[in-house]
Amino acid sequence: MNGNLDVLKDTGIEVRNGTIKRYIKRNEVIPEGEKVFNFPDYILLPGFIQTHVHLCQTLFRGLAEDLPLLDWLSKRIFPYENNHNRKSLEISAKIGLCELQKTGTTAIMDMGTMRHQEVIFEEMIKSGMRGFAGKCMIDTNGLYPSFCEPYEDSLKTSIEFAKAYHNSNNGRIKYAFAPRFVLSCSEKLLKETYSALSDFEGSLFHSHSSENKQEVEEVRRITGKENIEYFNSIGVLGERTVFAHCIHLNDNEIELIRSKKAKIAHCPSSNLKLGSGVADIPGYLNKGINVSLGADGAPCNNNLSCLNEMRLASLIQKPKYGSAAMSAQEVIKMATINAAEALGIANETGSIEPGKKADLLLMDLNGINNPLNDVDIYSSIVYSADVTNIKEVMIEGEWVISNGESVIYNEQELVSEGKEELKKLIERKNTR
Ligand SMILES: [Zn+2]
Repeated sequence: MNGNLDVLKDTGIEVRNGTIKRYIKRNEVIPEGEKVFNFPDYILLPGFIQTHVHLCQTLFRGLAEDLPLLDWLSKRIFPYENNHNRKSLEISAKIGLCELQKTGTTAIMDMGTMRHQEVIFEEMIKSGMRGFAGKCMIDTNGLYPSFCEPYEDSLKTSIEFAKAYHNSNNGRIKYAFAPRFVLSCSEKLLKETYSALSDFEGSLFHSHSSENKQEVEEVRRITGKENIEYFNSIGVLGERTVFAHCIHLNDNEIELIRSKKAKIAHCPSSNLKLGSGVADIPGYLNKGINVSLGADGAPCNNNLSCLNEMRLASLIQKPKYGSAAMSAQEVIKMATINAAEALGIANETGSIEPGKKADLLLMDLNGINNPLNDVDIYSSIVYSADVTNIKEVMIEGEWVISNGESVIYNEQELVSEGKEELKKLIERKNTR
């Protein structure tokens, strides 16, 4: 797959110093001394990019079931996040990163958490993952008052983290300021956070918006406006703004997102599981809005595979728009090129083209769950592939998954350490 989504048969690539140099043909003579990896009949794709995840929540998978957004946050997720210590946060991030890489994701944008954010940055660096992260900013919290910090601290610490980690790991890690959502941020915090962007070239403003009807009503009650109209009225809507969800938007809000070139991170599994709604993605795409994909957190999904998000992003629109809507190619684009553009890193990743970083995955589509023909490779990837078909994953020229297994982590150790830390975290939560 090149940048135009053409399928190049019998083609490989030359990778040097983590960068794609050129395409090579299957029968090309390779000079002696070069390292050759030969995967006949595998599909080579750009690594998937997820523009909205919560690594800190991976530990809480299965612990916040059957709740709508505001209850899900106030009864489960905020109390759990509030009881993270460095150790529990570390293992949560590791398990999330391992699952993301195993399922072909090579770049993310993470929402972070309020305390110990350095742990998430350090784990992202150790895993080799490309991406954006930021300390989650919360300076008012009517849903769960003890998970909150003063405005000055939130802003000051965020700027310190941006200074420390923006462009770290040779530019692989970048900073995304992460005010959680309107209901947990003062106007002052949102505005000053947005102005801080100008001190960090390439940084982003990452938040949630218009996810749930009750949330929208609450925002209207407090601000007198709809989410996006409010963001616009305080001057934080621009091309470096990425909003997760954007399900409940009026026509004016859609027009504001389009004209200000803000980006939408679509999270179909999460939107369905929390009963939030179905975002009108074909409508947004028609207007030229950039839409990419994200699994959101493990407790609202409960899986971090981009394959699931692509499949659902396509299928949920078909009853309304017809079977030809949201084609397999279109959703693969959302998971690769669109996402790279949303994050401002399309010169580095998002497609397999000379000059870009070698962020890749190899799929074996010869399993019993795959079609017995190669008539439409894109449909095979989106509608029939699963994690067992993802065999090799590379980030900037380094293998992170080999033969379906993590090169970075011992998965059994992650699971047993995760169980132990979760038990302690629940004890901390219950004794508070
Ligand atoms: Zn989220």
